Amino acid sequence: MKKVYLETYGCQMNVSDSERVATALGRDGFEMTADAASADVVLINTCSVREKAEQKLYTQVGRIRHSERPKPIIGVLGCVAQLEGETLLNKIPGVDFVVGTRAVGRVGGILNRAFDGESDIVDLGEREDEYDWTVADTHRHSPYVAFLPIIEGCNKFCTYCIVPFSRGREKSLAASEIIRQILELKRRGVKEIHLIGQNVNSYRPESETGLEGFEGKSAFSRLLRAVAATGIDRIKFTTSFPRDFNEDIVEAIETHPNLCNWVHLPVQSGSDRVLKLMKRGHTIDRYRKQIDRLRASSRDIALTTDIIVGFPGETEADFMDTVDLVKHCGFDSAYIFKYSPRPGTPAYEMEDTVSFAEKTLRFLELEKVQKACQEKRLRRYDGKVLEVLAEGASARTPRGITGHSPCHKVVNFVADSSLLGSIVNVKVTEVKANSMFGEVV
Ligand code: SF4
Repeated sequence: MKKVYLETYGCQMNVSDSERVATALGRDGFEMTADAASADVVLINTCSVREKAEQKLYTQVGRIRHSERPKPIIGVLGCVAQLEGETLLNKIPGVDFVVGTRAVGRVGGILNRAFDGESDIVDLGEREDEYDWTVADTHRHSPYVAFLPIIEGCNKFCTYCIVPFSRGREKSLAASEIIRQILELKRRGVKEIHLIGQNVNSYRPESETGLEGFEGKSAFSRLLRAVAATGIDRIKFTTSFPRDFNEDIVEAIETHPNLCNWVHLPVQSGSDRVLKLMKRGHTIDRYRKQIDRLRASSRDIALTTDIIVGFPGETEADFMDTVDLVKHCGFDSAYIFKYSPRPGTPAYEMEDTVSFAEKTLRFLELEKVQKACQEKRLRRYDGKVLEVLAEGASARTPRGITGHSPCHKVVNFVADSSLLGSIVNVKVTEVKANSMFGEVV
């Protein structure tokens, strides 16, 4: 049996793709291994949204090529593969094949061709009509938590983002298939489902099958209610797009306790002028109203966001609008990025007006403001009891277990490993910068 080592960079969608690739390769007679050094094949599933992840690809292939052992077959999958295609074969010596984001179901066949001596294989084609979305238990990143892509691709074309080019246009998975998979995962002991996609709330299936009888203005809120009705313990969803985020989603969360009280709503900038340059299609006034509605909810909803500082044309005044917005929203956490131009995006052609030093200053200032908000938000949990899904061993505490609360906070506690996979009541006794510690009650 040929051994395959698969390394994944990037977002949950990439993790989810890798789970499917591993499942398909297992079916095709390959053995997955965690040891790159003994593998016959090294696959790298890449991300192109951040420059760093792309850089890792070059370093990793170089390292493999220059190691002592015979060179394994090397394949590049995912976003960088989709965008660069054949040019990757010339750019990175040692790469034997390149497979795009929608062709990952064919990796097994491509590997067989590579073992038969074929080289320089490129497949950037579309998914097979009968693409199998299921994941074998052994290849899920957790036995208790499952990622389920409900929509792929993006139609939004924000000017800084490569995703619409690397993952193509939005395509929603049929609701009946989502429900079928969740019921199956529940039967297998999965406690928490993450409905994932670049913009989950833009979910628009071709037919209403599976959503009949469920309330809600948008197909996504009807899907949330349909998924809640499966009775699975917890449902989380990410990422939401502000323009498509309507009150019916909040109402669904308020009605169904198994819809978790966490919303990730990327704002990117606090300035309408910059949002226009980014072509985000939402305004700050509307975003604030959405946040106010979420904050007023009876469910105590945790809010997280993404922000880019130093976008081309961002002035000091625009940046201060972002600072004000962060103070107003009091996010539970925020992923803050310094803008870096990505080739192939419209923003790449814009003049990068903010110097790297200025971007760093803005990043540090915003991080300081956000940290203060985060600390305040986390301190609210001190002494409270949270329901934590015991997911795995904690590296931070001896005999410790780590898991997440419904509001997606990391909680560590000491307990017997027999509790793994259970939802445990944990009283928070200590709050740190990014996580909490507690004891089972
Ligand atoms: S919504 Fe914008 S940032 Fe998000 S994936 Fe689509 S284009 Fe990229």
